[in-house]
Amino acid sequence: MSEEITGLVHSTESFGSVDGPGVRFIFFMQGCRMRCQFCHNPDTWALTSETATERTVDDCLEEAMKYKEYWGERGGITVSGGEPLLQIDFLIALFKKAQSLGIHTTLDSCGKPFTREEPFFSKFNELLQYTDLILLDIKEINPARHKTLTAWGNENILELAQFLSDIGQPVWIRHVLVPTRSDFDEDLIALDKFVKQLKNVQKFEVLPYHTMGEYKWKEMNMKYPLENLEPPTKARVENANKLLHTADYTGYAKEI
Ligand code: SF4
Repeated sequence: MSEEITGLVHSTESFGSVDGPGVRFIFFMQGCRMRCQFCHNPDTWALTSETATERTVDDCLEEAMKYKEYWGERGGITVSGGEPLLQIDFLIALFKKAQSLGIHTTLDSCGKPFTREEPFFSKFNELLQYTDLILLDIKEINPARHKTLTAWGNENILELAQFLSDIGQPVWIRHVLVPTRSDFDEDLIALDKFVKQLKNVQKFEVLPYHTMGEYKWKEMNMKYPLENLEPPTKARVENANKLLHTADYTGYAKEI
């Protein structure tokens, strides 16, 4: 029956090189409930959109497989967004079929939809059976600052990170470094402490804030919350990498 489940896909990228190991075909799913001030894809927020396309699992995989020869040993597909977990039924069907075809599956998530409540929790556990790697954003460790930055607290996101550690699910953690929002030494030190005790982190990345998405806010007639905010300096990026000990995470070497 999986062929009949459809997902709302905002767009795709054929040769992704930063969202998971190797070269990857990336699906950007429509819909996100976070409101990150730095978001460079606000056009993915709406849970429905005339610009997104309703697609089947087979249709998606058929397109992705055209690029299989470029994936090498480590590549595959990544589902990003928006927030893919908002379409978890589609994700389960997509990853289940992908794995049956020998395709490496990566989920890129902000973690916001995570809850131990049903029916989500059972579905999430089913999804994990077919998920090789999760890229999880921890946008701020301080709950109040996280709320300023994203409009939501981070309690369930940290709970998700801990849960994935407890069950041994391979994860890459990513932290977007935004001056005056998520670049505070005391928070970076606390984030380092939290991530260090997780047992499943293969890679820990600092992603410097950039302004490339600003034009989309303007196109959508929305006020850009970070107007005039410059990207972090090289020194602050180096400082974050140092405080977070990102070099200690060996990445590909520990990959399963
Ligand atoms: S979670 Fe991602 S898509 Fe959603 S608002 Fe934040 S940056 Fe944008």
